[in-house]
Amino acid sequence: MVAHRSGGGQLPPPGPAPGLLRRRSDQADDHRGIPYPGPITAPTTHRDELEAAIAEAHAWGRPVAVHAMGDELLRMAVECGADTIEHAFACTPAAADVLLRDGLTFCPNLVVTETWDRDAVCCRGLPEWMAENAVAARSGHHELFARAVELGVAVCAGVDNLPRTGPHDYGIEHAGQVIGLVRELQLMRSLGLGAEETLRAATLNAAVATGVGARSGSLEPGKAADFIVVDEDPLHDVAALQSAQQVWLAGRRAH
Ligand SMILES: [Zn+2]
Repeated sequence: MVAHRSGGGQLPPPGPAPGLLRRRSDQADDHRGIPYPGPITAPTTHRDELEAAIAEAHAWGRPVAVHAMGDELLRMAVECGADTIEHAFACTPAAADVLLRDGLTFCPNLVVTETWDRDAVCCRGLPEWMAENAVAARSGHHELFARAVELGVAVCAGVDNLPRTGPHDYGIEHAGQVIGLVRELQLMRSLGLGAEETLRAATLNAAVATGVGARSGSLEPGKAADFIVVDEDPLHDVAALQSAQQVWLAGRRAH
């Protein structure tokens, strides 16, 4: 389950979040979103709604990933019982202490803020002040991740909402010529995460955070044998993950 900002506008009045979630949980999907309109650091959900939605998801045995922006909203998501925090854009490094204290997993989407540079903003016809904000938000976000690594916060790797236009020409899956997830791992390494922890961020930590750690995320007896074979050592250079020589699914070679 994901509570996510979408579009612009005013925070709507409190609504029947648990009922909404219950209807959605009746459907077959593993993951469902609760979209709310609003600018990036403005509250996009009421505390009691979020608390109720998270309690309902937990009652269904589903972990809750909250796309939280800004210290105040990150803290609110943590207090309401979120399991993972996505993004944490426009937060101060102090947010890392909150994540550590409450044992949350942090999914930063560093590759998204990597695209927030002056050229990218101006190229989209947006004003100069917005370019300045974007540059400041990017460096603050990467500092927060470095601080989280220093403290030992659990992290997982994900990619979301990369701009499809501008000098980067990124898509959801690709960051230029690099696979988006691989670029995310490269950024994690460059910001201080250890080589093994970086691989774990994209495998076991991600599986545990999404509630499938018992059947996926690592090669162990009883788990799904889903893996790729690469020529070079990704512990030496994570870019080795770009060129999979073999793909195995459920113990059978698929490619
Ligand atoms: Zn998001």
